[in-house]
Order: sequence, then C-alpha cells, then structure tokens
Amino acid sequence: MANDVLVSIDNVSFRYNGELALDSINFQVKKGEFLGIIGPNGSGKTTLLKIILGLLTPQTGKVTLFGENIKSFKQWSKIGYVPQRVITSFMRFPITVEEAVGMGRINGSRLFDFTSSEDREAIEESLKAVNMGRFKKKLLTQLSGGQQQRVFIARALASNPELLILDEPTVGVDVDSQAKFYQLLRDLNKKMKLTLILVSHDIDVVANEVETIACLNCKLVCHGTPKEVLKSNFIESLYGKGLKFVVHGH
Ligand code: ADP
Ligand code: MG
Repeated sequence: MANDVLVSIDNVSFRYNGELALDSINFQVKKGEFLGIIGPNGSGKTTLLKIILGLLTPQTGKVTLFGENIKSFKQWSKIGYVPQRVITSFMRFPITVEEAVGMGRINGSRLFDFTSSEDREAIEESLKAVNMGRFKKKLLTQLSGGQQQRVFIARALASNPELLILDEPTVGVDVDSQAKFYQLLRDLNKKMKLTLILVSHDIDVVANEVETIACLNCKLVCHGTPKEVLKSNFIESLYGKGLKFVVHGH
C-alpha cells in the first residue's frame, strides 16, 4: 500500500446483534486529505468512526491504519478523536480547561496529577492552536458552547495526532462559532498539515468545507469531490427532493 494512505477500509461490514449497520464499505483516506462523511441519522457514520478507532471490530473486512493492520496497530496517539455529544457528557464534571485538555495526554499508565513538562507544553500548544490559551484556568462550565468545542478539539490535539476525527462537532453550537470553527479546521488541515475526517448530517455546510465527501447509508453510496457528489442523484435519494445547495469553494 502506498504510504500516503492513512486509513484503508476494505470490504468492511458491521452488524449489531445481527442487524446490519455497515454493508461492504471500501474507501481510503490519504495523508493531508479533508474528508467529510455525510448521511442521515442512523446511516452508520458513528459506527464507521468507531471501527476506524478500534472501538468496534467489524465481523468482515479489513482495516489498515498508517499502513498497519488495525489488529496490531498501537500508535493510537497519532489519531485524535472528538466524539459525538462530548460537550454534554463532560459538562457534569467541574474541571478546568487545562485539565480537560490534559486528559488528551493520558495514555493509560499515567495519571493527570503527574503531568510532565512535556505534557504541559503540549497542553499550552494545543490551547494556542484553538485560540483558547487565555481560558486555561476557567471551568468548562464557564464557557460558551463554541468555546467548549474548541477545548475538546484542543484535547484531541494534545497527543499531537496526524489524523483528527470529529463526529458531528457543530451540534449545539451557534452559527457564528460554527464559522470560526470551520476556519479553525481549514487552518489545521492546511497550515498544520493535519488529515481530517469530519462526520456531519449538515451536508450543505460540509460540501463547502471539505475536499472529498463520502455519503453513507449503510452502504457507501457515493464518494468523490463535493461537485461530483452533488451532481450525482444520490443526495436526492438520501435526503429527498427539494434540497438546494451551492458549492462556493475556497
Ligand atoms: P449515525 O451515526 O449515522 O447516526 P450510527 O452508526 O450511530 O448512525 O448507527 C447506525 C445503526 O446502528 C442505527 O440503526 C443504530 O440504531 C444502530 N446502532 C448504533 N449503535 C448501536 C448499538 N450500540 N447497539 C445496537 N444498534 C446500534
Ligand atoms: Mg452518529
């Protein structure tokens, strides 16, 4: 396999207790790519991400990460993950911004109390990357939705990943913060050379931000540039007629 392929999904199918959630999926993500995965609710988007993250094991097919079979892959710090609804699940804990980001550095054997200077530096750097450095002593509960979202991106960046995976990151975030958020993703992709996989049901926004789109509906129904995907009638079959959108391009 070419070494510019970071993720390779070969003929992957997944069932929950016999119920088919993903059917014979094939695609690759190249180094430097910004991929959007779209599809209606229940189409298998989160399931696919969890398979890439090794949290679920497909019953058939093969997953290769950074050129290595996922079964023996151990370099998990190369992959950052911002899970769906992470904001609401974290809000119950009275932790500060820097503590939340520091959790992105925990690798199982160490506790946060024993942060090294390297950890502290990584925390500073990732908060700087999302422009939240001055909020580090604040409690998460004192931040707006958009600010909290940035903290969770910083948390995923704290392990210096090469691939960042985000599951519906703009749910519950106001429109202004969303625009800034997509600017941040563009910077991470272009300036910091991070490979990005962004899952969203907001096809209109995603089509304007990403380089390639994969449309999921249990099967991979289309995969290509936003223009190619919007031209195909798959979108109509997925989301219904009457949906209008425009690709502006950056
Ligand atoms: P999406 O993220 O696109 O909304 P999911 O990957 O969460 O979709 O779900 C795909 C399908 O698998 C849905 O039909 C959902 O009900 C089912 N599913 C998801 N998680 C579970 C689970 N833990 N147990 C059983 N079925 C599940
Ligand atoms: Mg989901």
